[in-house]
Amino acid sequence: MNAPPFAHALLPLDDAIEIVAARVVPLPAEQVPVEEAGGRFVAQAVPAATDLPPFTNSALDGYAVRADDTPGRLVVVGESAAGMPYEGEVGPGEAARISTGAAIPDGADAIAQIEIVTVTDDGGAIEVSREVGFDEAVRHAGDDIRRGETVLEAGTRIGPAQLGAAISAGVGMLPCGRRPSVALLTTGSELRAPGMPLARGQIYDSNGPMLQLALAHAGATVTRIPAAVDTPEAHRQALAAALDHDVVISSGGVSVGAHDLVREIGRELGVEELLWRISMRPGKPVSFGVRGRTLVFGLPGNPVSTLVGFELFVRPALLALQGSRQPRAEFRRASLATSVRPNSIRDDMIRVKLTPAGTLEPVRGQQSHQIAIAARADALARIPAGTEELPAGTEVAYLPLHSC
Ligand code: AMP
Ligand code: MG
Repeated sequence: MNAPPFAHALLPLDDAIEIVAARVVPLPAEQVPVEEAGGRFVAQAVPAATDLPPFTNSALDGYAVRADDTPGRLVVVGESAAGMPYEGEVGPGEAARISTGAAIPDGADAIAQIEIVTVTDDGGAIEVSREVGFDEAVRHAGDDIRRGETVLEAGTRIGPAQLGAAISAGVGMLPCGRRPSVALLTTGSELRAPGMPLARGQIYDSNGPMLQLALAHAGATVTRIPAAVDTPEAHRQALAAALDHDVVISSGGVSVGAHDLVREIGRELGVEELLWRISMRPGKPVSFGVRGRTLVFGLPGNPVSTLVGFELFVRPALLALQGSRQPRAEFRRASLATSVRPNSIRDDMIRVKLTPAGTLEPVRGQQSHQIAIAARADALARIPAGTEELPAGTEVAYLPLHSC
């Protein structure tokens, strides 16, 4: 454990991803009112509680008719409006006015759309100008989904369309993975709160609010632990308060400096370290460990390293805790817009813009403190370690940077 830090071989990035993924156990499910379930993950397949549509209805505004009676003159016997069905029957030679979504009265088997109808006799009759096909403009009960069929598969994240589908299919409560409780602590004697005057040597604690926003976006319930100065006592106090959450995220203090205390104090408090120092740039000093069921992520202090560590490890883990089926960062693939020189030892996670053509254009300024430049990027492109320059057009993996 106390081997000199540089004796640690750098861990390949893919190994690090697997080590974290292997430790993510979904949290228990809870029943959530469907209106409040947006952004959450469905724990088990959810059956439709009703046919959808629940009753056979009209796709158009017009007249419910018997197709065999068209074209021709029909007597209007009533109206079926949305929410106010016509309870009578449409007999031969008859029609009922109908609006979109209204129930089709018994006897009718097609809709004559308003555009092919002329109203006569002060509304008492209509003339249908062309033949209407059997079943024309009829939306059948259950043609979207039938009662008992699965409306949401287990592991689905509930976005607007999924919410609309579940509610339309009669679902009132959804089984969702619990939201993880996350303790967030930033470390460093140099840190000041946003907007306060800075003395020489001080910087703003941007990682705290940055991570807080990213965590909320990933569905976590966040407890902010006040920034810890670089003393063992302050770290002990902060970490002890953090460790009874599902997840602990720290920023800073995981490198090899004399004041980097997070790992040492974590160990003292019973955290079993499972990885440290990854073969990637930025974000090499990321650490990960567990104490019981608590996942403990040590993100480096440099803001871009923090962001990269979050996107690669923390976000996927948080989503998987809530029931996503993918605990690994989900890379996409695209071509480089310009040539890129790789790092000879570590995989580079470079900040890129997505061009309108769908290619990846590296931003100028790739150092780990350059958060203002990173803020203009759309994605992180993974450039595998190597010695050969990658020409423009080379396909690489990339990870979109999430915005809120
Ligand atoms: P550390 O990992 O603690 O050695 O920090 C690396 C670099 O990140 C240093 O320049 C720190 O000042 C900076 N840093 C650490 N914590 C934060 C933070 N919360 N917000 C912004 N920068 C930070
Ligand atoms: Mg520090």
